[in-house]
Amino acid sequence: SIELRNVSKQFKDMYAIKHIDLTIEDGSFTVLVGPSGCGKSTTLRMIAGLERQSEGDIYINDRLVNDVSAADRGVAMVFQNYALYPTMTVRQNIEFGLINNKVEKAKRNALIEEISEIVSLDGYMDRMPSELSGGQRQRVALARAMVKKPDVFILDEPLSNLDAKLRVKMRLELIKLHQKLQTTFIYVTHDQIEAMSMGTKIVLMNEGKIMQESTPAEMYDFPENLFSAQFIGSPP
Ligand code: ATP
Ligand code: MG
Repeated sequence: SIELRNVSKQFKDMYAIKHIDLTIEDGSFTVLVGPSGCGKSTTLRMIAGLERQSEGDIYINDRLVNDVSAADRGVAMVFQNYALYPTMTVRQNIEFGLINNKVEKAKRNALIEEISEIVSLDGYMDRMPSELSGGQRQRVALARAMVKKPDVFILDEPLSNLDAKLRVKMRLELIKLHQKLQTTFIYVTHDQIEAMSMGTKIVLMNEGKIMQESTPAEMYDFPENLFSAQFIGSPP
């Protein structure tokens, strides 16, 4: 599991995160949701080790990781704009991190074959990113994270650049992928429908605090405060 204990993040005199406690269970599909600027990306970046908290402790599988580098946390992050290398083929994009980590060729090939099949990119390995649809590019970004075999996937609004139809398709693909891999997914969106349809656990945030943490069903049936009630009640 991942545990945040009394974690705060301060930028100059502004608190982006204010004393949050959060437990993310192994194998869950945990969705962080809330309005722009509420601190979702900052929370993810602290978990991934890309940003250091100002206060508090972070544990991954009972190990205190405050001083553990991003590369050694067993966490892979897929970003909103999933910047692929434009001059590399799909295969080279996926292989790049493995070469950097000195994984030997036979093992690289085996991993790439396995992962490209899972994300249905087998026929696209020699294409350039510019020759792919938005959804296919998204899958390359996922594959690039997956070849590292992380314990935890962090996805920060991965579908925000896609059109409505593709978003719906990719939502289903991600749910299937989660079921297949059985690893922990931490997913950020500000889309209420997306959160409620994908999450096994919803973490609703506002102004650097956690307003409610529950299953989608509990959130519908028992909103704990006015903010939760308004979040549920808001039209799509
Ligand atoms: P969005 O939905 O728009 O992506 P978010 O919930 O991900 O929003 P964060 O990016 O976590 O929000 O930002 C939380 C707050 O911290 C915001 O007020 C933001 O302006 C501030 N912030 C984030 N990064 C920095 C930084 N590097 N320096 C100063 N302030 C920052
Ligand atoms: Mg963000």
